[in-house]
Amino acid sequence: MLKIDILTIFPEMFKGPFNISILKRAQEKGLVEINIHNLRDYATDKHRTVDDYPYGGGSGMVMKPEPIFRAVRNLKRDDSEVILLSPSGDLFNQKIAEELSKREHLILICGRYEGVDERVKFIITREISIGDYVLTGGEIPAMVLVDAIVRLIPGAVGDPNSLREESFQWGILEYPQYTHPREFEGMRVPDILLSGDHKKIRRWRRKEALRKTLLKRPDLLEKADLSQEDYVLLEEIKKELREEV
Ligand code: SAM
Repeated sequence: MLKIDILTIFPEMFKGPFNISILKRAQEKGLVEINIHNLRDYATDKHRTVDDYPYGGGSGMVMKPEPIFRAVRNLKRDDSEVILLSPSGDLFNQKIAEELSKREHLILICGRYEGVDERVKFIITREISIGDYVLTGGEIPAMVLVDAIVRLIPGAVGDPNSLREESFQWGILEYPQYTHPREFEGMRVPDILLSGDHKKIRRWRRKEALRKTLLKRPDLLEKADLSQEDYVLLEEIKKELREEV
């Protein structure tokens, strides 16, 4: 079972997101154990101090190394991945989520203020960023990681087939989805989806997934593992696009 320990000075932030839907059920089913630890419990002074002024001057406060080292040393096992959430980390993506969903133990460290003392680098195994922007703390990034990781644990999502065709699973975006009604404010569901011809539907979906990726995220196509059929479909799409203009 995957065990996730989260170190934060705002444990109360996690109550909502971890207690609904798939994340809640995954914990109830024993697929994942999530523990939230208050970093202040690892401070030793009577004020439970976790931050201090930066050496060299400058604005804001920096998280002290001692409470973080103490907490990690208390929780760490031989198989632990110790992750610092940080804007300077590796950019989080589906591949990293898959990798982490197969691990036994994750420790997530949430920074606050101007960040954490640089020496924390010596106790972590990895730094992860959720995007090229700066948030006020590592709590929301930790929630993003946990959400993306837990839904990949076998048994967490009711129908495992729903994961198979999702965006990024094959290196491209997902095909367009439709539900009832068949016609809404003059907009019709594509006829092919009502045809019952599963071979044609599969081909249409693959083609539309490729079209969406080509138009919105062409960078993904360069790295995607494409089949011979995909190249044929891409040629068809490019021809259609040329004819549109
Ligand atoms: N001064 C830091 C810098 O410029 O890189 C930013 C510190 S930020 C205000 C406080 C904390 O929020 C960070 O220590 C980190 O834990 C978290 N954080 C902010 N943006 C993040 C991002 N894009 N990905 C992951 N963590 C982030």
